[in-house]
Amino acid sequence: MKLESLCVHGAKDKNNQTGSLAVPIYQSATFAHPAVGQSTGYDYARVQNPTREALEALVAALEGGQHALAFSCGMSALDALMGLFEPGDRILCTDDLYGGSVRLFNALEKRVGLSFDYLDTNSEKELLAALSPQTKAVFVETPSNPMMKVTDLAMVKRVIGPNVKLIVDNTFLTPVFQKPFDFGADVVLHSGTKYLGGHNDTLAGFLVTNDPKDDEKLRYITKTVGSGLSPFDSFLIIRGIKTLALRMYKSQRNALAIAQWLSSQPKVTKVLYPGLPAHPGYDLPQATGHGAMISFEVDSPETATMALERVSTILYAESLGGVETLITYPLLQTHADLSEDIRNALGITDRLLRLSVGVEDQEDLINDLSQALK
Ligand SMILES: *Cc1c(COP(=O)(O)O)cnc(C)c1O
Repeated sequence: MKLESLCVHGAKDKNNQTGSLAVPIYQSATFAHPAVGQSTGYDYARVQNPTREALEALVAALEGGQHALAFSCGMSALDALMGLFEPGDRILCTDDLYGGSVRLFNALEKRVGLSFDYLDTNSEKELLAALSPQTKAVFVETPSNPMMKVTDLAMVKRVIGPNVKLIVDNTFLTPVFQKPFDFGADVVLHSGTKYLGGHNDTLAGFLVTNDPKDDEKLRYITKTVGSGLSPFDSFLIIRGIKTLALRMYKSQRNALAIAQWLSSQPKVTKVLYPGLPAHPGYDLPQATGHGAMISFEVDSPETATMALERVSTILYAESLGGVETLITYPLLQTHADLSEDIRNALGITDRLLRLSVGVEDQEDLINDLSQALK
């Protein structure tokens, strides 16, 4: 089945005897055993639940991976993933990673003794210089957040070889536009809160893997700490994914129009959108679309504040990937935990704004931005 059909039909209830189109919410914490030493396949919902299981199979199929696990949010997925590593291991990361990931990594450096190096993961030279026998993984966000830097995944895998894991946070493009396993990824991570859910109403996270040993370890971790997604939230994400492809295409169309419009505005000094031909990474064959995330720089911090306060259809709120268009101020929101030096080096200034373009009418969105930037 092709991806658009999988979005609609890919979630199946293995126990369906009623013909129900929707996977039911199996709101049960525990499951009765038919006999001593026997199980229906479900024992206790911390370990597995049929609604969550259907969602996990769907997400694995969408990414073209063997195994998927659904977590209570993206950060708990990332935290579980870090359980695959040992004290002393080093992980190389894209330098403008999602701020929450950096916060988690800072805590793990202190508590667990893992080390994280931040670099331009699209630079073969920087990767080679940073690789050491302790390097166990490279963690890539592409396009990155908020600078929209694109990393060539196949290049990274070629440079790091088969023994270093390539982990890709595919939250921004989703499998609709980018399938990291086709380019050498070993693990794909998602904040399902964003495009997969798509309605700004549910937190979720995913890890997709191909190595059965990784899957076994990760299942052991979720079983132990109970970070799996609840049945109701699993239902909502299955429902969200039914329109994933539609939403991705529509929000991408809106985003391209907005990026072009922003490029011609006197108060806008820079537009970062991979769908503009001048953007480095525009031509990279690994993605079939450029997504709907745009960062842009305005002429002064006052213009930035004014735009945030004046927007009305567009909402000034953290997060991304939903049907509603949101504008954020990375400096004070997603990237507040980065040090000032790092923020400045990356270009996350008091003039940088980020848009997550939704599925509203294009003209309404441009009119709203136009009055906000006057
Ligand atoms: C939001 C986000 C996360 C964290 O996910 P939560 O669901 O908020 O825990 C990780 N990576 C990226 C790129 C994100 O946008």
